[in-house]
Amino acid sequence: MSISNHHDDDALQFVDEDFSITEKQGMGKDWPVLIVDDDPDVHSATTFALRDITILGRGIEFLHAYSGAEARQLLQLRKDIALIFLDVVMEKENTGLEMVKVIREEFGMLEVRIVLRTGQPGYAPELQAIRDYDINDYKTKSELTLTRLVTTLTTAIRSYDQLATISASRRGLRMIVDSATDLFGRRGLENFAAGVLTQISALVRLSPEGLIAAKAETAPHHTHVDDEPVIVGAAGKFRDWINHPLHDLQDKKIANALRQCLEQRRNIIDESCTTLFFSTSAERDIAVYLNTGEPLTAMDTQMLEVFCTNIAIGFENVDLFQQLNAYAFSDLLCNIPNRTRLLQIIAEQRQTGSAGWTIALVDVDHFSEINDALGHENGDRLLRAVAERLRGGLNKETILARIAADTFAIFGKNDHIDPLQLQHLFDTPFAVSEYFLRVRGTIGLATLDNGQNEQTALQHAHIALNRAKNDLRGRYCYYTAEMETETKSRLTLLHDLRAAIEAQGLELHFQPQIDLHTGKIVGAEALLRWNTPQGMIPPDRFIPLAEYSGLIIDLGEWVLRSACIEAKKWHQNGFPDLRIAINVSMVQFRSPSFVKMVKQALEDIAIDPHLVELEITESVAMEGAIGLENLLNQLRGLGVMLAIDDFGTGFSSLSYLQRLNVDRLKIDRSFVNTLGAADAQTSIAEMIVRLGQNLKLTVIAEGVETEDQAQALRQLGCQEAQGFLYSKALPASQFFNWLKAH
Ligand code: C2E
Ligand code: MG
Ligand code: MG
Repeated sequence: MSISNHHDDDALQFVDEDFSITEKQGMGKDWPVLIVDDDPDVHSATTFALRDITILGRGIEFLHAYSGAEARQLLQLRKDIALIFLDVVMEKENTGLEMVKVIREEFGMLEVRIVLRTGQPGYAPELQAIRDYDINDYKTKSELTLTRLVTTLTTAIRSYDQLATISASRRGLRMIVDSATDLFGRRGLENFAAGVLTQISALVRLSPEGLIAAKAETAPHHTHVDDEPVIVGAAGKFRDWINHPLHDLQDKKIANALRQCLEQRRNIIDESCTTLFFSTSAERDIAVYLNTGEPLTAMDTQMLEVFCTNIAIGFENVDLFQQLNAYAFSDLLCNIPNRTRLLQIIAEQRQTGSAGWTIALVDVDHFSEINDALGHENGDRLLRAVAERLRGGLNKETILARIAADTFAIFGKNDHIDPLQLQHLFDTPFAVSEYFLRVRGTIGLATLDNGQNEQTALQHAHIALNRAKNDLRGRYCYYTAEMETETKSRLTLLHDLRAAIEAQGLELHFQPQIDLHTGKIVGAEALLRWNTPQGMIPPDRFIPLAEYSGLIIDLGEWVLRSACIEAKKWHQNGFPDLRIAINVSMVQFRSPSFVKMVKQALEDIAIDPHLVELEITESVAMEGAIGLENLLNQLRGLGVMLAIDDFGTGFSSLSYLQRLNVDRLKIDRSFVNTLGAADAQTSIAEMIVRLGQNLKLTVIAEGVETEDQAQALRQLGCQEAQGFLYSKALPASQFFNWLKAH
């Protein structure tokens, strides 16, 4: 701002030369005082009169405007003016009064003091106006003698300083309160730190430029082994330094200020910068560097101290928040995102389009067996090793998460996910404690469409995984839309089956078994029927479903009990020796309480166990499950008979068969079908009969449909038969009638 050159008298020239009005005096900057007057003499007289004044240790910076319009322009740029000497009459009669309104209302400058001056002694504004617009003083120009001018100026500036202090601290308090709520809502130390910098800068009215350093051990992502502090927050031109160790900073002065502050645990405030120290009870020491450029005023320093106390608590909260966040969104075992976080990530990707992205689920085969066998600690170690192996094989941008005990999820661009490559990661055994574990993974993959819901996407990958598990253990499978329809219809069927079991919509039919030599009825096989309004669903279709879903356990018990109850009726009604054959599924066999269940049923129904025969298929017998021999012996111990069903379709070895303690072999109907056709199949049926003779087992043929087949079997030495030749499976009452008729 320069003094106007409107004036020409010597005294005023002198003022021009001698006063460098922008020069700073004392502690702070000079008080900006604006003179608005259309008379240049007033300007020069005022500046001359007040040239040496120091108020509260600060000099005066004069600003000049020669019209209301000029004043307006100037005020648009300077909001820090302390006092305005304002002429009332300028362009118009009341320009000055209009200016007052503009200053207070339009510019919202409430602290600036205003002294109105007028040349005409008789003219005075309304008292109301003086009150409304907070006019400090009203003087005629002649009244403003040198001393009075000095007094007026001093009073006005002191009052301005008080007002400014009050409103600044009010603003500061507001900010502290706001920042408390605002900052606590921010996630993560980085955000919080940036917030602190912004708030502090706002408090001292600077542009947000600064750095926050934390001791290495408290910095969240620290990878630095030494004690070097790390920059955890940065704003303005320092932004790029985030997460760097302090010694990376090019400006050694700043680095030293921060380091010193942390070491000496105190605020360091000097000429050009301010470094504030925060310490919390959690021992999280933090230093904040601000590029202040000039020393802070006492008021600013005081305000910062209040702010610091408040923020120290904030840092602690952020820390807690981060911990909670970690618990909620990451898998603490492997230190990778969990299911919740994965879903978030997929949802985030959807915002920019998820076409071209794939989810792969990798399931560790037989994990629960390993976990049981080697202990949970080793199980955990294995999972960590698998996570590490997977991570190592993935592209940097690809996400690895753990979404269930032994299921990892991989989310990345289609090109970055190759199931074969993922499988190769399992080629080398995993070193866990002293073991080298050969583990394979089964993989289900789903490629995403744009806008696809994250839950759906994950569900698709699950469907594919299940398919891969069921069909191709240790392989992979991509999701297709048909899978879902299949799954859906299986689910409907399962739902209906469950309802049928509850409503007892299932019933048992009985098919007689005949002694081929005497023609007498020796027993019956119970066969399950499911009649629905849409027709009969064959057991071949719903038994596997019941097995798959576990429903077979309850269903199997119901079959066993119902069949025994029915057989008991025969025994009590004239057929005391009739045997009842009951099919038992592999899943039932594996259930640990199977033997107990059978024992209880036999006791409850009080049936002679020798008349109860359990059929297991040859494939089950051949699965060679450890403990099968033992299990069969326990069942034999209960007194029940055992038969191997569908015999000839599996690959039983003679020696194995010898070890299995069973009573009967059932020749599969496919070998009976072709009997008498004089081809190679004949010899299989014959072989089975021989085998039975050798092992002293009874042999029964199923699916006998013609008298020729029966004749052929009889000649081979087969003892018993079952099939449509005698009867198909009949409902209980019809079967009983059939019994009586024969
Ligand atoms: P399976 O135990 O081998 O039963 C013999 C199957 O052959 C029965 O079919 C029977 O109806 C059929 N069959 C009997 N005689 C003839 C014949 O002369 N010609 C022809 N073509 N077929 C004949 P079904 O009832 O459809 O049962 C199929 C399979 O479902 C059974 O084979 C058995 O493995 C299973 N199953 C049936 N009921 C139960 C049950 O209660 N529990 C369990 N776990 N499985 C059952
Ligand atoms: Mg059977
Ligand atoms: Mg069979």
